[in-house]
Amino acid sequence: MVVENEGITLRGKVRWHRLGVDEALARLESSCAGLSEADARDRLAAHGPNLLTEEARRGPWLIFARQVTDLMILILLAAAVIAWWMGDVTDMAMILAIVGLNAALGFSQEYRAERALAALRQLEQPQVVVRRDGQWRQVPSRDLVPGDVIALEEGRRVPADGRLIEAVRIQVNESQLTGEAVPVVKETRSLPGDEVALGDRLNLVFMGTTVLTGHGLAVVTETGMRGELGKIAHLLQTVEVQTTPLQRRLASLGRWLAGAALAITAVIFLAGLLRGEPLNVMLLTAISLAVAAIPEGLPAVVTIVLALGAHSMVRRQALIRKLPAVETLGSVTTICSDKTGTLTQNLMSAEIVAIDGRLIEITGDGYAPAGAFYENGHQCNPASEPALLALLRAAALCTNARLQEQEGEWRIFGDPTEGALLTAAAKAGLWKERLEQTHPRVDEIPFDSQRKLMTTIHRDPQGRVVVFTKGSIEAVLSGSTIIADGNREIPLTPERREALLKMNQALASDGVRILACATRRLSAAPSAESLPAVERELCFLGLVGMIDPPRPEAKAAVALCRAAGIRPVMITGDHRVTAEAIAANLGIHEPGRSVLTGDELEAMSLEELTARCGTVSVYARVSPEQKVKIVQALKSRGEIVAMTGDGVNDAPALRMADIGVAMGKSGTDVAREAADMVLLDDNFATIVSAVEGGRRIYDNIRKFTRYMLATNSGEILTVLFAILFGLPLPFLPIQILWINLVTDSLPALALGVEPAERNLMQRPPRPPEESLFAGGLGLHVVWVGALMGLLTIGLFAWTLSTRDLVHARTMAFFALTVLQMANVLAIRSERDPLWRIGWLSNPQLVGAVMLTLILQVAITYGPALQAIFHTTALTAPELLLCLLTALLFYAAVEAEKWWWFGRRGVSPQGVAL
Ligand code: ATP
Repeated sequence: MVVENEGITLRGKVRWHRLGVDEALARLESSCAGLSEADARDRLAAHGPNLLTEEARRGPWLIFARQVTDLMILILLAAAVIAWWMGDVTDMAMILAIVGLNAALGFSQEYRAERALAALRQLEQPQVVVRRDGQWRQVPSRDLVPGDVIALEEGRRVPADGRLIEAVRIQVNESQLTGEAVPVVKETRSLPGDEVALGDRLNLVFMGTTVLTGHGLAVVTETGMRGELGKIAHLLQTVEVQTTPLQRRLASLGRWLAGAALAITAVIFLAGLLRGEPLNVMLLTAISLAVAAIPEGLPAVVTIVLALGAHSMVRRQALIRKLPAVETLGSVTTICSDKTGTLTQNLMSAEIVAIDGRLIEITGDGYAPAGAFYENGHQCNPASEPALLALLRAAALCTNARLQEQEGEWRIFGDPTEGALLTAAAKAGLWKERLEQTHPRVDEIPFDSQRKLMTTIHRDPQGRVVVFTKGSIEAVLSGSTIIADGNREIPLTPERREALLKMNQALASDGVRILACATRRLSAAPSAESLPAVERELCFLGLVGMIDPPRPEAKAAVALCRAAGIRPVMITGDHRVTAEAIAANLGIHEPGRSVLTGDELEAMSLEELTARCGTVSVYARVSPEQKVKIVQALKSRGEIVAMTGDGVNDAPALRMADIGVAMGKSGTDVAREAADMVLLDDNFATIVSAVEGGRRIYDNIRKFTRYMLATNSGEILTVLFAILFGLPLPFLPIQILWINLVTDSLPALALGVEPAERNLMQRPPRPPEESLFAGGLGLHVVWVGALMGLLTIGLFAWTLSTRDLVHARTMAFFALTVLQMANVLAIRSERDPLWRIGWLSNPQLVGAVMLTLILQVAITYGPALQAIFHTTALTAPELLLCLLTALLFYAAVEAEKWWWFGRRGVSPQGVAL
């Protein structure tokens, strides 16, 4: 039924705020049970996906245009014009072909990088909890349609515009839309008035805004571009592309090197002219040399390797949101991790209950509501245990999670802690849905990790008002004055408190997570003002202990962290003893290390904490706000900190950490948006594996920087030596351009995907300010370039003594290419010889080297190519000589590694091996 109310629509648009909940549902032809799957499918086809039109991405044309306007390409085009002016049409055509190849290569690389980043953006598409066919399920936010009933939870981004149909203390940050940062308290009442400003439409929620506290249900009214956010066409940028410190350093290094290369080129140009070489030849040679010597490809390759590296990390379940994180990961010295869900599985099961000083064990697996109750080894019938029933009833009613059977499997929607309570209650025959019929909820104070309490208020079958509270034992005890004892309620004396705390201590020392429950009767439902007071004068009902098994891979990941010089630290809201037991089991907490609680932390100044934090391995009962202080203290000790977080209140700490890590599965959108990296599997081991990935990528960037600079210095020094030794020019411009093209492209890129070095996670983190030239890289570039130059010139001079200039140039041309290939193979590892890392362990590189050699052979022996490149066939002994020289050169580069690692037993960074 479609209700037509006067003034409800304006210029075809529905004024949703004026409609009551039922009217809105009716107009959308939906209901509280949601749409059917079939209806949702039809609506999706009609309305299209719930997406904002993507921001104009750098399309192929833009990327192409960038290649063509590249400075190097412009210089090459100038060279082509000079060649044409000199009447050398073949050279001109060849230079143009090289320009085309260069541009095509740059284009394909950038396009790949762009696609990799776009794929990362895709992965960030959030999931939404929606009710379809009366069942709750998760669907990608893009599949939402008008009429869908969605759950809104703390920390969630509102996925589409909607009319609230249930609101529990829900506050929304609408600054994305209105610019107003003050949270808006939402409600379900319909609002009068035709023109209500966006910020005052209190019963509506809008796409892109975030739920700060509370929760609720809404029916979707508009999706995609038809929503309010679509109207202002403001796109929420997800994956941020920022330049990394390394990229900035490389860019300035590139400028410096370009200056140096140009100066040497100018010297060569002038020396050539003075020696009587023709101007046009020297002009082209100088231009080609400048093109060859300037490491123009370096920043581009770095960007590509970072982007592709970030993309490959997704396979390891780490989604990089900010590109600089890839680089910073290699320098991380401390990983601060949440306990629940990151180090543990967040698969809670209530295994023990403490009531009246008795301990009752619960059996069963996972969230399936099948299991029995045992006391001292004897099975007991929960139906005849009123104290047990009272505790489990309170626990089940005071939850927002839902337990559902889907496709034969029992699943939890919401907080797993609450899921464990629902399962335990169901094992005793207490089902939340049925309990809610006899005890309808009238109000709620949502869980808050600062208070560590949650309270719900209900009416019992007699119409009386009952309060149920659950939370940490300290918080519940501090609000309790009496305790249930059989059918009686007796005062909660200091001795009884002491006994409860002892019981708690005993359970927690086995790593059990404990929740306390309490209740209270009220004469009337509380007003908004008197609501906080209901958490006082409570009657303590008992404790529920739950087990959350550690993740199986966490222990090994902690050990790997330690070996890699990274300190793992646990930060948790849980009890000190529980946290300590779990941390000790995982190897995070060791003798000599200490545990700090939130209260102790609060009492300390930042300076005191800075002095202490080096030895603290566990922070317990910490509230998210205190995480900021921990990051500050660690950072002022010079640590590079990775910090995990999932809640709204974790966002400041995530922003402050060097690497903010959010949870992909259980985390809130607010935390994700503040983070540099998202763990798609919420797993601690993934952080360690991302660090490993970061270190590998940095290593590879160093490798191809070393390779590219050595290659360039080899090319320029060969020509410089020829001039110095009074020899003719060893290469023609076209030959220089060719060597530059083939050696700087594929082999360099293939070095970027080199597998990890053997000792990657046995060496300490890299100091973030460490220069790219650390470990003798600068020296390497100079001596390797000089050796390459001398060997090439030697072969050139030797050939020239018996053969003509064309033959000698072909020899130099061939030799330099082969030397470059020997170099790329030799520097694949910074410490191990090639035979140790395996000849074929980087198939891309093997392919690149083979292709380059085949092309060189074709240029040397193919008649058509000979004409273009001015080459001639080399004899077999000459070829052999080139190969032997390359072998000699290769041995020299391997000897350098041996000098650093084998002989001295230390790495360039001074690390003992
Ligand atoms: P971590 O900080 O390691 O991720 P945590 O889940 O233990 O884990 P919080 O969620 O801040 O941290 O919980 C702190 C304490 O609050 C818990 O130890 C428990 O006693 C209590 N608690 C947790 N969840 C709830 C809940 N849904 N309702 C009431 N109390 C809760």
